[in-house]
Amino acid sequence: MTEVLKQHLIDPEICIRCNTCEDICPVGAVMHDSRNYVVDAEKCNHCMACISPCPTGSIDNWRTVLRDAAFSTADQLTWDELPLAVELDEASVTMAVARTSSDGDSIQANGADAGLGSIVAPPSAATPVVNLYGAKNTMIATVSGNYRVTALGTDSDTHHIVLDFGSGNFPVLEGQSLGIIAPGVDVNGRAHHARQYSIANPRDGERPGYNNVSLTVKRVTVDYVGNPVLGIASNYVCDLKKGDAVQVVGPFGASFLMPNHAGSHLLMICTGTGSAPMRAMTERRRRLRATGDTLADGRLMLFFGARSQKELPYFGPLMNLPKDFIDINFAFSRTPNEPKRYVQDLMRERAADIATLLKDVNSYIYVCGLKGMEAGVLEVLRDTAIAHGMDWQALHAELKRDGRLHLETY
Ligand code: NAP
Repeated sequence: MTEVLKQHLIDPEICIRCNTCEDICPVGAVMHDSRNYVVDAEKCNHCMACISPCPTGSIDNWRTVLRDAAFSTADQLTWDELPLAVELDEASVTMAVARTSSDGDSIQANGADAGLGSIVAPPSAATPVVNLYGAKNTMIATVSGNYRVTALGTDSDTHHIVLDFGSGNFPVLEGQSLGIIAPGVDVNGRAHHARQYSIANPRDGERPGYNNVSLTVKRVTVDYVGNPVLGIASNYVCDLKKGDAVQVVGPFGASFLMPNHAGSHLLMICTGTGSAPMRAMTERRRRLRATGDTLADGRLMLFFGARSQKELPYFGPLMNLPKDFIDINFAFSRTPNEPKRYVQDLMRERAADIATLLKDVNSYIYVCGLKGMEAGVLEVLRDTAIAHGMDWQALHAELKRDGRLHLETY
């Protein structure tokens, strides 16, 4: 008996390799190499958990194939583009048995529940524009600024890059990201794929009223295990000069967005360059507050981790923010003669204030930065909730359902 399979595939031309799908897949069906993200047809159970979190929509691709002729992961890892969809000749199929319903609706609910964070935006968030530009129709931006935002003499060479779109259309919201395609080709002679960076400015521009965006980019000089390696895109971006033309794709992201209603509180937790979206949201609120807009009403609480004060991007500007505007907590892990402190350690110290926020349905939580922080932060939230008489399981489910717990870690 020949079975027909609706095979789940990822479009390598659109994918920005952000790892969200691999991270969220509950059955380990997604894998990647240095080039592509692919789906193992033997493992994928069509639970749809990965579909809506994907910032680009590249994950939502399907081909009807005979199960025996399904594309292997080895095949998919060599692709530069998806194969054309081929109509199956019904007559040649002994028995057509699709493994799932064609729309996946019946199992969507399970999938949507698989991750630890929300896959929907806060209900009051502005509607984002996504995927205006892709690898085949890039937007060309011009560099209008490149400043180092960590102290000289430290290992963290982090840059604040400003890109101007001139008269081009590239609308963004706080929490969205874009992709940059470095020029040239990889070792296999293929064009580099886009690297994703969070936008660090509010919706009305890095400079209010200007058609520009900013990014926070750390120069990668070692790989995950500490071997020396020069990151292609991060080094390209950190070396950009004013006036350089840059290929941009995006914007991406439809859930890591801020609420747009008066009285909403933001609990922001980040490490290193994961501060980019927090800068965007904070600056949005700061600008609203300056005009007396009631949309700025609500608490802002920030936990920000870095190796040292000198390696914390934007340390100076953050220190200048009024105390009654934002409650800032820095965690430094490598300050000589001081104990190692992570954001979750500081959160435990501020548990009473976090509990107040957790009890308020107007509180929205954002976590961005190193993957390793995610578990620790969720543990503190759980412990804090329980210690203050809340049912964490129910609260966690509510936070996820209502677009109030956003995790973006790599
Ligand atoms: P980093 O300097 O390596 O680390 C920042 C701080 O986090 C350090 O103090 C580090 O302590 C601490 N840390 C390490 N493990 C931790 C854990 N398990 N829990 C809590 N804190 C921990 O950070 P980075 O190189 O800037 O990396 C930031 C991350 O953000 C990257 O993974 C990046 O991909 C991601 N990100 C970036 C953007 C962007 O637009 N640029 C957007 C989203 C996410 P140690 O002393 O132990 O190292």
